[in-house]
Amino acid sequence: MFAEEEDFRPDPERAHEQLAERLAKFSGPVAEALATVNGPADVVYSRISQVTVEEPWDVGRVALAGDAAHACTPHIAQGAAMAVEDAVVLAESLDAEPSVPAALAAWAARRRPRAMWVQAMSHAVLKQETGGGTTPEEDELLKIGILGAAHVPAKPY
Ligand SMILES: Cc1cc2nc3c(=O)[nH]c(=O)nc-3n(C[C@H](O)[C@H](O)[C@H](O)COP(=O)(O)OP(=O)(O)OC[C@H]3O[C@@H](n4cnc5c(N)ncnc54)[C@H](O)[C@@H]3O)c2cc1C
Repeated sequence: MFAEEEDFRPDPERAHEQLAERLAKFSGPVAEALATVNGPADVVYSRISQVTVEEPWDVGRVALAGDAAHACTPHIAQGAAMAVEDAVVLAESLDAEPSVPAALAAWAARRRPRAMWVQAMSHAVLKQETGGGTTPEEDELLKIGILGAAHVPAKPY
């Protein structure tokens, strides 16, 4: 991944050349894929975003879940995993609580710390990969490592 300037947007006339410049040192499958990019229309440029909706995620019988509540940067590939975890925990909460509002409140209380932890880990990896300068707290997270992160989600989630 490459850290671009905040105001960077690909040149509509030469986005394919800009991509080639950035991937010039790669060989193998990356070079093979790059060889199939023949013009600017072949390039889809998308900025990375992290979404963190403030509390509450639940109001009465309505809740925000998945990317709508806590979209992650892609660096530890956990966005879909978080959405699935949300669904599993929601089912458990609906089963355990006496009403839908109570279930959503219990669900949000259980899910928020977990989703925030995964976001923080993903953001720390982003900064590490792009030379963004990590904080001491992020360095502690990075000591766990991505394999460690993959282990942590097992339970509780
Ligand atoms: C290129 C890429 C690679 C990724 N790789 C990984 C990976 O390796 N591992 C991983 O865990 N995650 C990965 N993710 C992240 C993952 O795709 C998302 O975190 C996940 O899809 C979020 O699920 P969601 O159900 O919250 O939202 P979405 O999957 O975005 O689902 C929302 C749905 O709501 C629909 N919708 C929107 N507005 C309305 C409306 N008004 N009415 C009705 N329907 C509506 C949309 O069409 C969509 O189908 C990747 C994402 C991208 C873009």
